[in-house]
Amino acid sequence: MKNPWFKEEHEIFRKTVRSFMEKELAPHAAEWEANRDFPNWVFKRAGEMGFLGITYPEEVGGSGCDFFYKVVFCEELPRSQCGGVNMALLVQADMASPPIHILGTKEQQQEYLVPILKGDMICALGITEPNAGSDVAAMKTTARKEGDHYVINGTKTFITNGARADVITLAAKTAPDQGYNGISLFLVDTNLPGFSVSRKIDKMGMHPSDTAELAFEDMRVPQEKLLGEENTGFVEVMVNFQGERLVASIMSVGGAALVLEKTIRYVQEREIFGRPLAKFQVTRHKIVDMLCQLEAARQYVYYCSWLYDQDRNPAHEVSIAKILATEMSVKVIDQCLQLHGGYGYAAEYGIERAYRDARLGPIGGGATEVMKEVVGRTMGL
Ligand SMILES: Cc1cc2nc3c(=O)[nH]c(=O)nc-3n(C[C@H](O)[C@H](O)[C@H](O)COP(=O)(O)OP(=O)(O)OC[C@H]3O[C@@H](n4cnc5c(N)ncnc54)[C@H](O)[C@@H]3O)c2cc1C
Repeated sequence: MKNPWFKEEHEIFRKTVRSFMEKELAPHAAEWEANRDFPNWVFKRAGEMGFLGITYPEEVGGSGCDFFYKVVFCEELPRSQCGGVNMALLVQADMASPPIHILGTKEQQQEYLVPILKGDMICALGITEPNAGSDVAAMKTTARKEGDHYVINGTKTFITNGARADVITLAAKTAPDQGYNGISLFLVDTNLPGFSVSRKIDKMGMHPSDTAELAFEDMRVPQEKLLGEENTGFVEVMVNFQGERLVASIMSVGGAALVLEKTIRYVQEREIFGRPLAKFQVTRHKIVDMLCQLEAARQYVYYCSWLYDQDRNPAHEVSIAKILATEMSVKVIDQCLQLHGGYGYAAEYGIERAYRDARLGPIGGGATEVMKEVVGRTMGL
């Protein structure tokens, strides 16, 4: 047994996930990276494998598993060699859908959550705007009540799955003069008039995933699409961030672990100045330093996962975990790239791709500086 957090069943599940990532996704990674796109069958296959509904209850098509199955899934995801696909799957299962589970009516769950967890419907989470990223409450998108509809106007940006989504879990202001107390959540069908994808955003890494800017122009959404109570969306957005940040932290740990594993093999095989690179003391120390950083982050993330399994909102600990894991991942992968020399910089070993993908960690879903503000606040500072 590797760890007290995991039972034998978790390790069996780990084998299944690893095999899926290595056999069904990794062989396509180079092509999807080059195309800056991936096919929608990935969602369908992930749904068929039960990977989208791991912790959701059986009534909505989930498996009702404990959160450590999710930990296993996120740790193994990087073996797809395709960060963009991993992010798309996590947005589908862990970022855009939990509010439907928590706040949705039975009808909304049947109409949206069930097909989302099967991979038959693709979803996105629409929070960020051009002038409201870290400062979520500054959002300008409005949803004005008109009879039995809401009329939505505004712009969202950096929306993962945004160009391909069938439905968006959208945050908009229903009471624009009430700050964060005026934000509501909606389930917005992208086939309704008034919705358009303004552009796909080119970016440093996560290339296969579509990151889109979205426009809403007098988009009329039926009132039944309101998710939860009017004007209470901000609380759910904030609580939902904990799951989003935790899965991102676990994936960062998994990504760094995989690159370190490859690097340990590489320094044993690569000979320079007549001996394997691993036989230089400086290399060994570097590897051990990286292992220390990785294990510290990994164990803290496991602890956080245990907390999260009991209470959805351990904001203090999850914020610490996100700082530790995402910053560690960038540093470790950077040093692994250095140990690969020119082969690290070249595309063929996948190290430079892992570095570019990992760089999103300390920015997306709440920048490191925002996490520090949360931790400071929870400490009463
Ligand atoms: C590839 C990608 C995918 C994304 N997917 C989604 C998605 O699916 N849905 C969605 O809604 N959003 C998504 N985002 C948006 C992401 O969450 C935001 O980019 C992030 O929250 C930061 O907001 P911003 O980019 O507007 O940066 P800003 O808010 O402009 O911040 C810029 C920088 O300022 C610093 N900073 C921020 N706050 C403070 C502070 N309090 N004190 C000191 N310094 C500070 C940080 O260094 C930060 O990086 C995605 C972004 C990217 C790049």
